[in-house]
Amino acid sequence: MDSEQLMARLKALGYRVTHDSPRPRGEIAIINTCGFIGDAKEESVNMILEFCQAKEEGRLRRLYVMGCLSERYMKELGKEIPQVDRFYGKFDWNGIVEELARVHHPQLPIADYERQLTTPRHYAYVKISEGCDRKCAYCAIPIITGRHHSRPMDEIIAEVEYLVSKGVREFQVIAQELTYYGVDLYKRRMIAPLIDRMAQVKGVKWIRLHYAYPHQFPMELLDVMRRHHNVCRYLDIALQHISTNVLTNMRRHVDKEQTYELITRLREAVPGIHLRTTLMVGFPGEGEREFEELKEFVRWARFERMGAFAYSEEDGTYAARHFKDEIPDEVKQQRLSQLMAIQQEISAEVQAAKVGQTLKVIIDRKEGEYYVGRTEFDSPEVDPEVLIPSSAGTLRRGCFYQVTITDADDFDLYGTIRLNSLVG
Ligand code: SF4
Repeated sequence: MDSEQLMARLKALGYRVTHDSPRPRGEIAIINTCGFIGDAKEESVNMILEFCQAKEEGRLRRLYVMGCLSERYMKELGKEIPQVDRFYGKFDWNGIVEELARVHHPQLPIADYERQLTTPRHYAYVKISEGCDRKCAYCAIPIITGRHHSRPMDEIIAEVEYLVSKGVREFQVIAQELTYYGVDLYKRRMIAPLIDRMAQVKGVKWIRLHYAYPHQFPMELLDVMRRHHNVCRYLDIALQHISTNVLTNMRRHVDKEQTYELITRLREAVPGIHLRTTLMVGFPGEGEREFEELKEFVRWARFERMGAFAYSEEDGTYAARHFKDEIPDEVKQQRLSQLMAIQQEISAEVQAAKVGQTLKVIIDRKEGEYYVGRTEFDSPEVDPEVLIPSSAGTLRRGCFYQVTITDADDFDLYGTIRLNSLVG
């Protein structure tokens, strides 16, 4: 989102802006970095070096770096990579615009929330808050982003209306801690009222919720999900583990029993809900017994979508200061493979159960012989897709169709379309 807002502002200044350019070339390049986990940090540094090379070869005039990595390591990066003209952090990136505006325009004629979408124009991400007040032992996010800051509800609704006017129909609502929305601004959890309002904005076809936290989950959000047909029966809720020992070490404020109860209540309250979770293996304190508990939980919970990763120590976190990262990497990798093998079978069964059903599908793109779309249970980039032979006729990107599912593999679905089944 920061990149999209920045692009809109640069465009308003008269620049021609491209995103994800395959070859660094132009007057100015801006790299938005990520610094949450080791792999992302490495990827960001490699990209900066690649762009420095382009600058040295005269293919670029100026190079700016912004985002989480430079927020966290600005001094170190400045010393190590002096070819970068200027580093900005996660929150002061508008300084780039101000610097350029001084040369071109004193006033920028656009609203703060205006963006140049980098997603297909029928869906967009809407960030409702920034930062996090939780203190999960392994997590560097609060160190980088600071405390939880909710955006005012009116501002979010204005952004949604603006995006609808630009052709967006599906909204991926995101926050580091979705369910905490409103506590700082309104002194109570306001995620349910916010989604209720958003669902009533004309033109909003689907709303999908990402990154809920299990402790004190606001159950009224499920009423909103039941009440509005455009709030997808989908919840992304990172659980990390199930063993009470491990959850305590992780400082997650929930235990095994509460987690089992929460999953049961979510499934009872919203029949058919698809749950996406993230789990972590190899956190300090995870012995064989705790790992067995985790496998048993995954078999029981039957998450429709699940990601897992191996713990790696992050600078400055509680875990780095208080625990020894003592589980060998091979053991972590073995556990990861075992867990994902269990999930793969579950995913295949979940997908196979959809064969024969007719589902509403939004079309994202055409690829080779297929149109590629998603159901309300699939978030872009991370979840399965529905492939429809393009011989079925001409389908419109960003439109909804009724699709009968004819086949499934471990991940994706295949379907056929009823002619004239455009549903919006
Ligand atoms: S709730 Fe999420 S963002 Fe916040 S500290 Fe925990 S893992 Fe990090």
